[in-house]
Amino acid sequence: MATIFSRIVNGEIPSYKIAEDDRFYAFLDINPLAEGHTLVIPKVEVNYIFDLDPDTLSGLTLFAQRVAKAIDKAMPCKRVGVAVLGLEVPHAHIHLVPLNKESDIDFRKPKLKLTPERFTEIAQKISKEFK
Ligand code: 5GP
Repeated sequence: MATIFSRIVNGEIPSYKIAEDDRFYAFLDINPLAEGHTLVIPKVEVNYIFDLDPDTLSGLTLFAQRVAKAIDKAMPCKRVGVAVLGLEVPHAHIHLVPLNKESDIDFRKPKLKLTPERFTEIAQKISKEFK
């Protein structure tokens, strides 16, 4: 059965898309730690990030770099933090989280509740900066 992230890529489940190419897809995390919290995934369905073939893993990293630069421009923050957990969704993904302080990337924190309008606004701001 397709993962929830494959269903997002296929458009079966809606997402606030940031960027896409033939191999990778970036979209806002629906339960964000901070405004602009983004997930970057390969379209290929592989559970564990370090099981990706080397070319896909390096491509994913370079795609995430471009997304992080766009987040940096669009969202006021000191750094874009990077995390890989994969404990919930069995489809490799990189979390990119705008950081102003260390606790901004504490996954035990209560997540933000944003309106659809705010998600849309954030996604548009970031995707406009994606090069
Ligand atoms: P992890 O697998 O890295 O532990 O966590 C999965 C992440 O995916 C969580 O931060 C969760 O909020 C996010 N997530 C789970 N399901 C969906 C979904 O359907 N849409 C979006 N945009 N994010 C999701």
